[in-house]
Amino acid sequence: MELDKMDENDWKYHGEGNKSLVVSHLQHCKVLRLLKFPSEDSTAEQAFRHIPNIVDYSKYVMKPLLGEKYVHSGEVVKLPLDFVRQLSLKVQQERPELRCDKVMDTFSGCGLCLPNLTQLPLHHLRDHSPPICVEIKPKCGFLPFSRHITKECKRKVCRFCMHQHYKLANGKWKRLSRYCPLDLFSGSKQRMYVALKNLLEEPQNNLKIFKGGELIFSCKDDAKQQPELNDLIQHLRPYFPHSNSLYNGHQPGKAVLNEFIQVICSALLSGGDSNRSGEPRKVHLSESRPHCEASPFPRDLLRNGEDFTSNHGLPKDSVLAKILQVQMLDNLDIEGIYPLYKRVEQYLEEFPRERNRLQIDGPYNESFMDTVKNCPTEDDGSVEYAVGKVHQYRVAMTAKDCSVMITFAPCEEDEEHQLNLEKPRFTYSVSILDLDPKPYEGIPHQYKLDTKIVNYYLRSTQAPP
Ligand code: ATP
Ligand code: ZN
Ligand code: MG
Ligand code: MG
Repeated sequence: MELDKMDENDWKYHGEGNKSLVVSHLQHCKVLRLLKFPSEDSTAEQAFRHIPNIVDYSKYVMKPLLGEKYVHSGEVVKLPLDFVRQLSLKVQQERPELRCDKVMDTFSGCGLCLPNLTQLPLHHLRDHSPPICVEIKPKCGFLPFSRHITKECKRKVCRFCMHQHYKLANGKWKRLSRYCPLDLFSGSKQRMYVALKNLLEEPQNNLKIFKGGELIFSCKDDAKQQPELNDLIQHLRPYFPHSNSLYNGHQPGKAVLNEFIQVICSALLSGGDSNRSGEPRKVHLSESRPHCEASPFPRDLLRNGEDFTSNHGLPKDSVLAKILQVQMLDNLDIEGIYPLYKRVEQYLEEFPRERNRLQIDGPYNESFMDTVKNCPTEDDGSVEYAVGKVHQYRVAMTAKDCSVMITFAPCEEDEEHQLNLEKPRFTYSVSILDLDPKPYEGIPHQYKLDTKIVNYYLRSTQAPP
């Protein structure tokens, strides 16, 4: 990419989240990720520091924890301001209304260049059908087990399921999602199937599907409208020709979706490469309760043994096992972290210069990573312990908010990286994205939010008779 010859006409709107806006290149398999700010406080300085911090955090912290093969840290690019301003104008009309409370950063000229993960490298060079990409934001996959927890329901109902009630009450969404992260992270094919089915029925911001790099399925801008599963089936049909003959033409759409979900499941359970031999080692996370009481997955199916003995636990190198392992660095829960945050705050009030040495706001380098890895397990009352746990908590928060991208396309018999399915066979790649550091200053907010969500859940589900 020649930075002095940047032309906004080579790029188009790709998507956005709460923190950043992404444009994709029309020819090359790459994207530019630009920060967004609340329109009242856009300063160049924020992005100047923030973009390099994001790359360092991904490179030195998240990548070693999640595994080389899943993480693409990207590189910082300095863009001509003129290009960024033109780009911002160009994409404005494509942006969903619900995201327009923030504006794209047109001040810093700083951006992040990443591979376009909705495409398959080299794939477009051949005369293949375009790749399908499934983006899942899985959220927290375990029940907290910390002794600091004060509300018993947090040990039985997962955060996502509780949060749904709060979001519905606040008008964020119009319908409850029946997705439960604990089902997706269970490693049981049955439960994962149900989780993915529920994501398809109510994607909210947890599921997006792309075809040839174009968004074809996601939540509707108008929250009242339901996404079109039938349109999705039409898109998917050519990828599953086999399933068209299944069921004798009776509910063929169902067969297509069924096979589609199987492919996603296999990719999520794979170790990232298809050549491993034998049964992969499973990780059993015994401290956590594996089932959420709010999940719609039938309880009797959990109990009948099959689920726990044959399929429970995630293969050790699978993307979900990696993410879960990092999420579980949050082993004190926000209720245990908040007092430690206050300890750090008190210390910093007395010794403000220590903020740098303790790397509260970075830099996110090997030394930060050492603090995360070597934090003592017992509280010795020190500020070092408190900082170590706060760092760990923030890393876990990143893993609770990341997305998984599964990109696949039909492949020839001789191609590598095939999903081990009888028919059809797919080339695929699995990546993790959105690995930004979560701010230290956000901890008091997290503490308050946790209390609000739990209290609201208790009030709304245990109303007096
Ligand atoms: P969130 O609100 O979830 O924190 P965010 O503002 O941090 O989101 P991202 O999730 O990184 O932003 O990016 C927004 C969207 O852009 C993603 O959901 C994804 O669809 C798309 N995207 C981001 N990075 C890539 C990439 N490397 N390749 C393809 N698409 C991408
Ligand atoms: Zn749940
Ligand atoms: Mg995101
Ligand atoms: Mg993000």
